[in-house]
Amino acid sequence: MIIDQHTALYGVIGNPVRHSLSPALHNAAFSATGFNAVYLAFEIEDIEECVKGIRAFGIKGTSITIPFKTAVMPFLDEIDPLAKRIGAVNTIVNDNGRLKGYNTDAIGAQKALKKKIELPGMTCLIIGAGGAARAIGFMLKEQDVAVSIVNRSRKRGEALARSLGCPFVPLVDIEGAKGDILVQTTPVGMYPHIDQCPVPEHILEQGMVVMDIVYLPAETRLLKSAKNRGCVTISGVDMLLHQGAEQFRLWTGLDPPVASMRHVLKEALLKQDERN
Ligand code: NAP
Repeated sequence: MIIDQHTALYGVIGNPVRHSLSPALHNAAFSATGFNAVYLAFEIEDIEECVKGIRAFGIKGTSITIPFKTAVMPFLDEIDPLAKRIGAVNTIVNDNGRLKGYNTDAIGAQKALKKKIELPGMTCLIIGAGGAARAIGFMLKEQDVAVSIVNRSRKRGEALARSLGCPFVPLVDIEGAKGDILVQTTPVGMYPHIDQCPVPEHILEQGMVVMDIVYLPAETRLLKSAKNRGCVTISGVDMLLHQGAEQFRLWTGLDPPVASMRHVLKEALLKQDERN
């Protein structure tokens, strides 16, 4: 890769970001397509000042991660309608000085699910009621999926269920709930707590589609158990890959080099697994 006077700058903004796989993912995509750009990680404190910096330096696009996905919204010029409904932005596109916010978590989850199941007419239990659950809930609703929110805390669970116009089930009562699909969006089972599973494993029925959005490890205890019980499983790595691929499409207007992106992501995750 040659960096020259025309090289465009992209990056991920968050705190912390030093664990982020996005630089590896996007630099691989730029390199595979010959797009003259580099992608860096920016660990920042003040999101308002950071957005001024994006404008001042003409940074062409950024990923936004924890804890700024909602906080960044008032400082942008325009928000895509789906991101507005979700209430969170994970991508900024700088269109000649005009900053527009998008949310690609939803489309990333949609693409990962659609590889294994036709969504319209299905029923789905979403475990969790945080930012990711919100993005996936709105996407599934748009796809005519009948969603139920299952959450540990009643307050947060009921609030999301109300926004989506769907039922709420307390996590302790999950045994009475039914779904063709189960989407797990809590951090339970993520490294280093890899022996934890957020739901009783006997509720996983043969033929059910189970997606865990945790991607470290790539196969969580929930997914292992689901596979053993004859479920169709989808790893969080697929969602991560596709949300990144959609960011690349928004920034460059090019078809994302998904195979190269998948390869680099797998390598990076393998390295992290070995380190752990
Ligand atoms: P968040 O806004 O903090 O929400 C976390 C949710 O998990 C809340 O509903 C919380 O329930 C629940 N929860 C947390 N600890 C729990 C426990 N011990 N038992 C039961 N429920 C628990 O987080 P988020 O932004 O939605 O992210 C959630 C996870 O998704 C993270 O691990 C993140 O890395 C992952 N993620 C993956 C992708 C991808 O591309 N694969 C994209 C986005 C996020 P309460 O309301 O009861 O606190």
